[in-house]
Amino acid sequence: MATLQLDVEDILETELAGFGTTVRRGHELGSVDQDDTGVRAQVAGPDGTYELTAKFLVGCDGARSAVRKMLGIPFTGLAGKASMVLSDIRLEGVTLPSRRGHFSDHITRRGDHVAILSPLPGGLYRLMFGGDAQLDKDRTAPVTEEEIQEVLDGAYGPGVRLLEVRAASRFSDASRQAERYREGRVC
Ligand SMILES: Cc1cc2nc3c(=O)[nH]c(=O)nc-3n(C[C@H](O)[C@H](O)[C@H](O)COP(=O)(O)OP(=O)(O)OC[C@H]3O[C@@H](n4cnc5c(N)ncnc54)[C@H](O)[C@@H]3O)c2cc1C
Repeated sequence: MATLQLDVEDILETELAGFGTTVRRGHELGSVDQDDTGVRAQVAGPDGTYELTAKFLVGCDGARSAVRKMLGIPFTGLAGKASMVLSDIRLEGVTLPSRRGHFSDHITRRGDHVAILSPLPGGLYRLMFGGDAQLDKDRTAPVTEEEIQEVLDGAYGPGVRLLEVRAASRFSDASRQAERYREGRVC
C-alpha cells in the first residue's frame, strides 16, 4: 500500500512521544568524538551550535549516514545502474487506477521507460518512473514538471495533466553495505 511519508512520520512521532521522546527537527549533527567514558556530539540547531554528551550514540541517519562518514567506515558494494524518480503529485484527467493496492499492480512500460502510478490518500498520486532521460541525471538534480508531464504523456496518453508536485526526488538501485556497525561507543 502506498502511504504518504508524512503520515508515516506522524505515526512514528506519536509513538515516540509515548516514550517521552521529542524529535528535534532542523537540528543537524556536525561532528562526533568519543573516549573510553562517553561520546560528544556537536549539533547545529536553529539557535546555534550546542553539544550533547551520552554514554553511547546510535546513528539512525539513513543510507547516506553522516555518522558512518564521520567514523570513516567504508560503504562498499555496487554503484547503481538505474535511476528513478519518485514524485507525489496532483493530477487532472486520470482514469486509472482508482483503487489503492500494491504498486506492482500499476506498472506501465513504454519504449525505454517504466512508469508506476498509484493512488495515495487525499486525491494525490505517486508516480515512480525511470528511463534513458533519467539515467544521466545527477541524484541531486531537481525533478522538473516538464520531466513528469513528459512521462505522463508517454505512459498514459494525452489528457492526464500535472497540476501540482508535492514532493519529488531521485533514487538509484545502488547496493552497498557498511563494513562495520560499531566503532567504540558509536553504532
Ligand atoms: C524511493 C524509495 C521508496 C521506498 N519505498 C519503500 C517502501 O515502500 N517500503 C519500505 O519499507 N521501504 C521503502 N524504502 C526504503 C526506506 O525508505 C528505508 O529503508 C528507510 O527509510 C530507512 O530508514 P532509516 O531510518 O534508516 O533512514 P531514513 O528514513 O533515511 O532516516 C534518516 C534520518 O536521519 C536524518 N539525518 C541525516 N543526516 C543527519 C544529520 N547529520 N543530522 C541529523 N539528522 C540527520 C534525515 O534527515 C532522516 O530524517 C524506499 C526508499 C526509497 C528511496
